[in-house]
Amino acid sequence: MTNTFIEGLVENDINKLLAAPKSDLHNHSTKGCRLEWLAERIGVEFPKPPQHLGGLDGMQDYFRSRIKPYCDGFDGALIRWEGAFAEARRNNIKRFTMNFGIAEVDMLGGIEAFEKTIEGFHMQYCPDTVFEAELTYPSCCDATLEADRLSQYASSGYFKAIDICAGENVQPFEAFLPLYRRAEDFHLTKKMHVGETGSASDVKRAVEVLGLSEVHHGIGASTSLEVMRFLADNKIQVNVCPSSNVMLGFAKDYASHPIRILVENGVKVTINTDDLLIFNSSVENEYLLLYQAGALSAQQLDDIRLAGLG
Ligand SMILES: [Zn+2]
Repeated sequence: MTNTFIEGLVENDINKLLAAPKSDLHNHSTKGCRLEWLAERIGVEFPKPPQHLGGLDGMQDYFRSRIKPYCDGFDGALIRWEGAFAEARRNNIKRFTMNFGIAEVDMLGGIEAFEKTIEGFHMQYCPDTVFEAELTYPSCCDATLEADRLSQYASSGYFKAIDICAGENVQPFEAFLPLYRRAEDFHLTKKMHVGETGSASDVKRAVEVLGLSEVHHGIGASTSLEVMRFLADNKIQVNVCPSSNVMLGFAKDYASHPIRILVENGVKVTINTDDLLIFNSSVENEYLLLYQAGALSAQQLDDIRLAGLG
């Protein structure tokens, strides 16, 4: 069955793709705006980002040296958050999840001020969008310490999910148990960055040990039929970020991106931006890149789009 979104893919019509309702469920908020939007907002001309960034370290170096100096500190973060919601409006993002570190909540003066600021942008730009804030911790964190102070951030109910990011296999999955157990007290959806660089068995172990219901990245699962069956049977959602994987060198290219294998093995996937400000590919473009590379059909991509809205 054809619709505006499928037509947009087939006809390479960006406006049709932008108009269709979509989701973005893996988005690091301070890197969630478009480079073009930021350039206009602060009056700086940025060079085009490189095609390949060389892993997570290369990405951080690029961000710290080429972008952050122009939008640093408290004011810079506010502008970038605003830009993330402006992009949600431009791209008709109807389900939107962004993650925030506790340092970002603290920077705004605590959860009350944080919620007021973020909800202000949400209401200003895309009040009809279902927005969920996710609390993310670096994989080097002291999970026992963070569990003890989780209530400071989670008891207001504004945060709906918990996540671990910034590198895999830094600590065993069991090390995060105190934090994930505590997260259950606040009914947070349990997620984690795993299977970006890690293996299929890492993905399965993380889900089993921590009781995850969603996995950020998860492409490593594509090397194991058993793990994909496990994810499909347990309805674990995998929030994939194609350009991030290609630009960081964790996937060879769009044509051979592992999302195809995940989809063909019944895993529920969504398509997301990760760090739009760095990878410079907004949601509609992620779908288009996969379509044009022949990784997935227009119908498969439309099914993914609709699943992300559910
Ligand atoms: Zn991420």
